[in-house]
Amino acid sequence: MFNMKKFLVRIWQELESDEVKKHLLLAGELTANCENCRHLGIDFFKETVCQQCGTDFKYIGIREKSNKAEELFAIKRIKEKRPDLVVVDCEDIQRAFGKSKARDLLGL
Ligand SMILES: [Zn+2]
Repeated sequence: MFNMKKFLVRIWQELESDEVKKHLLLAGELTANCENCRHLGIDFFKETVCQQCGTDFKYIGIREKSNKAEELFAIKRIKEKRPDLVVVDCEDIQRAFGKSKARDLLGL
């Protein structure tokens, strides 16, 4: 019999940086920012479209947490509540968008 136990695995995929930037939510503890217009305080469990710029969200990045278990828990919750969003790794985003920009968007 097959083992149906689920686990999280990071899959490498090629994406267009402009496309990701346009439809990206950056999630903090409770709220997220729209990367397209920098609108703040978005409820990432609910909002599918940015109230300010009208872009539809397709990707979500979670700000790095000091605790890896916490980070995985946050990813699991988002995947449960938002199966429509693709969870992207903030480190990869940082690399793709350039360091200073990423530092800015990650609030570092
Ligand atoms: Zn926006």
